[in-house]
Amino acid sequence: MDDYQLLKKIGEGSYGVVYLVRSKKTGGMSVIKKVSLKDMSEKERKKVHKEARILQMLHHPNIVSYYDSFEDPETGSFCLVMEYVSGGDLRMKIKEKQDQGEYFTEEEIYTILIQLISGLKEIQDHKIIHRDLKSANIFISKKGLLKIGDFGISRILSNTYEKAKTLIGTPYYISPEILENKPYSFQSDIWSLGVVIYEICHLKRPFESDNIYGLVLKILNSEPPSLPSFYAKDLQDFILSFLQKDPQKRPTITQAYESPFIQSLSQKYT
Ligand code: ADP
Ligand code: MG
Repeated sequence: MDDYQLLKKIGEGSYGVVYLVRSKKTGGMSVIKKVSLKDMSEKERKKVHKEARILQMLHHPNIVSYYDSFEDPETGSFCLVMEYVSGGDLRMKIKEKQDQGEYFTEEEIYTILIQLISGLKEIQDHKIIHRDLKSANIFISKKGLLKIGDFGISRILSNTYEKAKTLIGTPYYISPEILENKPYSFQSDIWSLGVVIYEICHLKRPFESDNIYGLVLKILNSEPPSLPSFYAKDLQDFILSFLQKDPQKRPTITQAYESPFIQSLSQKYT
């Protein structure tokens, strides 16, 4: 902690506190996520640190970089230092559009889509499952780049965090197979990304309900309402392929990335 000057608390998540800090060495701003490991054995703690070091190897314009990790000697909390992304998140942006009563343009959607596919590909290429992909975990940089954050964290903290999370948040992004108690897979991330892309196009999630039981039933059994018809058929089909109930039927991230649809978009929009 001595290397960082605490500037302010940014927020509190389901399992820890997030601070804005300044590095005393470089003068740069970063974010520190602090999580209590108090019920963990020495062996489990070692594992947390090892996993965190793996996450620190990933660097890509469309993911939040992790820089450092350590235990705060005073409190015993686990601290993960990461890139500060200052332009808000995609959930906020979607709400803004809702308030203004307008949809994203197709060009905006394609620029977003390409970045999300590239970011998730980078994560999964390193054999990491995100496990908590949602619009609130996709940050926007000052320059307008999208950066996927919070990847791999729920695995590091598996027991403590995953349980806490499912109890707290509304699981709009959770896949049918996870609801059926199957283990997380790469294809569960694809489902969640499908929910995010649908949400960007529709400004609503594909499955919504005023209570959690209704939501679960819809995720398991219903088809999402059709998207506004002014969006290209290619785009609609692409999104629906991500939201197939059977994880095997969804494209893998590599298939999505290499698909003619995404390849032609990349040529046009990057
Ligand atoms: P949650 O569990 O709801 O995802 P988090 O603990 O991830 O909450 O984040 C808490 C708050 O900190 C949120 O408002 C989030 O937008 C913000 N935040 C998290 N990581 C970053 C980051 N790298 N840059 C800027 N803000 C961040
Ligand atoms: Mg988060």
